[in-house]
Amino acid sequence: MTETRILAATTNRGKVAEMRAALAGLPVVLLTLDALGLRGRAPETGTSFLENARAKSLFYSGRTELLTVAEDSGLEVESLGGAPGIYSARFSGPAASDETNIRKLLRLMRGFPREKRKARFVCCAVLSRRGRVLKEVTGRVHGFIALKKKGVLGFGYDPVFWYPPLRKSFGELEAADKNRISHRGRALKKLAGWLAAHPELLGER
Ligand code: IMP
Repeated sequence: MTETRILAATTNRGKVAEMRAALAGLPVVLLTLDALGLRGRAPETGTSFLENARAKSLFYSGRTELLTVAEDSGLEVESLGGAPGIYSARFSGPAASDETNIRKLLRLMRGFPREKRKARFVCCAVLSRRGRVLKEVTGRVHGFIALKKKGVLGFGYDPVFWYPPLRKSFGELEAADKNRISHRGRALKKLAGWLAAHPELLGER
């Protein structure tokens, strides 16, 4: 069967790998912005994950004929009023790295007891084509912010996101295990189901 090319509108390699895995059951091949030579930065001025995902998806789908999927995601900590939220990537400033973001988070939460360490990851993904939204999905996963880093797998806040059902941090999860339960895995599973129910979209290359 011919594979339909889909643009994964992100430069985050961790995200692309997880998106590929989540859509692996479909006759699609995910191409990145780099692979298509698409430059420019989508506006990220929304006030929610969904608004940002929609803006990114529309921005890039207006520059290609391909189906385009963009996502916006992040970490929400209940006792921090939902922070870092949409600012997850730049939590510790313009030169933020995963390491400095985690350090800031653990510093802010020093002394917080377990019941004040509740957190969730959220992912909103938006599929569009030629500047028009086709489908929007959201996935969430609930856990706790650990006292210190554990594990070296994944990316972002994974080493400090403790997932009680598996008694592991996301930083200790192999990709396939993370994908089964993660916010991104859940959102993209919904998208995969929707795409599977719309084979006419997958007929296009
Ligand atoms: P975005 O590129 O603006 O969507 O940034 C999302 C940020 O949220 C990432 O840079 C990470 O810091 C964090 N994040 C989103 N998803 C995950 C995940 O699956 N694991 C760990 N951190 C994540």
